[in-house]
Amino acid sequence: MRHVVIGGGVGCARYVRGLREHVRRTGADGEIDVVVNTADDWWVSGLRISPDHDSILYTLAGQNDDERGWGRRGESERVSAELSEWGATPGWFTLGDLDLATHIARTSWLRAGDSVSDVFARLGSRWDLGATLHPATDHEIDTHVVTADGRRMHFQEWWVRERAAVPALRFEQQRIAEARPSASALESLAAADVVLLAPSNPVVSIGPVLAVPGLRDAVLASGAPVVGVSPIIGGSVVRGMADACLAAIGVETDAAAVALHYGSRSRGGLLDGWLVAEEDPDAVAPVQSAGIACRSIPLWMRDADTSAALAAEALRLAAEIAAR
Ligand code: GDP
Ligand code: CA
Repeated sequence: MRHVVIGGGVGCARYVRGLREHVRRTGADGEIDVVVNTADDWWVSGLRISPDHDSILYTLAGQNDDERGWGRRGESERVSAELSEWGATPGWFTLGDLDLATHIARTSWLRAGDSVSDVFARLGSRWDLGATLHPATDHEIDTHVVTADGRRMHFQEWWVRERAAVPALRFEQQRIAEARPSASALESLAAADVVLLAPSNPVVSIGPVLAVPGLRDAVLASGAPVVGVSPIIGGSVVRGMADACLAAIGVETDAAAVALHYGSRSRGGLLDGWLVAEEDPDAVAPVQSAGIACRSIPLWMRDADTSAALAAEALRLAAEIAAR
């Protein structure tokens, strides 16, 4: 059974950890591939940073700081403090020492001619992740944000420095028209038995993956059922500021609205199935009447049990769809 997950950072990392737990517990032979967003990657202090990849890597490796929600555990910031003294790093972007080693390794390999896919493979080989991470694309497609006060900035400047408080008018992935899906993402999609959309930010995590020309078609061509999990619980985003992104593209912060944004596969969209939270029972009917199989269940990924149960529900829904 080949599971292919599409997602971004923290929401995706927790979801994949739950899926891995479920696969291990059931003893099912199951491979997990993750097609990871690279659109919030950026260059800072001469280094290539890949936040979504690193969130998933550290979480699956058991190296993440679960309390803070991001970065390495046992992290220190001596190098970052020194870089600030030199004025060589924006003070608002924290680079932990252990994390910096990852960025230095990645940058040196890129400089030596490795592709982003090669770098993912090298970083993924250190720990037993129980999943293989693939970049959506090898091209640099960094997201820029055009704000209501007439500025244009890198996504990280808007998200971290501005705390997404300045309203965004739109998000633009640089040179995305020339980008192509990575070969390994295409290979895993072609072999997928199920495609799972993680409860990730629909606009700046999953949106850019699907916007890589050819990737969305590869998902649909796989013939595997596509089942997503709502990142919205009880009408609000959990752990994050995704509502500021949804507002910019005119989508309500609502579990049904996000499903309709992805659209029903039967009507030219992407989804066969969608899971909403038990706090959102009213979302089920509108999603189903759009032609998407829908169920309301617990969506909080609190620990191994709750995350594994969520993954199991997504697979159950996918199996029902496949059996139709
Ligand atoms: P980022 O790139 O680190 O922001 O992470 P993602 O794009 O993968 O996911 C961010 C989204 O994950 C947030 O907007 C939340 O809505 C969602 N999320 C985080 N934790 C949970 C959870 O426990 N359950 C669900 N359903 N969604 C979650
Ligand atoms: Ca992200």
